[in-house]
Amino acid sequence: MLNIVLFGPPGAGKGTQSERLIERYGLVHLSTGDIFRANIKGETELGVLAKSFMDEGKLVPDEVTINMLRTEVLKHENPKGFIFDGFPRTNAQAQALDILLEGLNAPITMMLALEVEESELKIRLMKRAESSGRVDDADPAIIENRIRVYNNETAPVKEFYMAQNKFKSIDGIGSIDGITQRLFETIEKD
Ligand code: ADP
Repeated sequence: MLNIVLFGPPGAGKGTQSERLIERYGLVHLSTGDIFRANIKGETELGVLAKSFMDEGKLVPDEVTINMLRTEVLKHENPKGFIFDGFPRTNAQAQALDILLEGLNAPITMMLALEVEESELKIRLMKRAESSGRVDDADPAIIENRIRVYNNETAPVKEFYMAQNKFKSIDGIGSIDGITQRLFETIEKD
């Protein structure tokens, strides 16, 4: 199985690039943000809970997120692989993911980290707010909060995969197609 963690700060382009990767490699796309938003739309119990954190730019608690992700992974029989988008966002989530995948005999192949500087992220998120309708994209204070959470809690997850020799850094600045090419090359030379 090809199991990829697509990593990067809010606005790095994970969603856009995920679409290209699933198309080329036939992977199952699991975006925790998308799953939470679908639950919010469906007004499920999980959605109501997640919304209270997401609207403030905070992380949904690990236990809730990990249980949700586990359920999603186990829904798929004989997948070619997964692309994890927006997960893991904490070291506890990364550990839980390793344990889950160990049980399936299908470890993470690599982490692909899209690197984009902070000033560019803020511009992209403000622009996205015009079309996404996302509460957490519209308010500069909430964007600041998400970037702070990323730097404090999520960025350290890179080291988790570095320690396993699975970390690959990708320049996330440039044309969408150019970034896709860099991702393909990195996956295929592995
Ligand atoms: P972005 O990458 O632009 O921040 P996402 O759609 O990945 O957007 O995430 C939106 C929000 O959903 C996050 O700010 C957080 O509140 C919640 N969320 C998504 N994934 C996770 C996760 N793995 N752990 C905790 N909260 C999460």
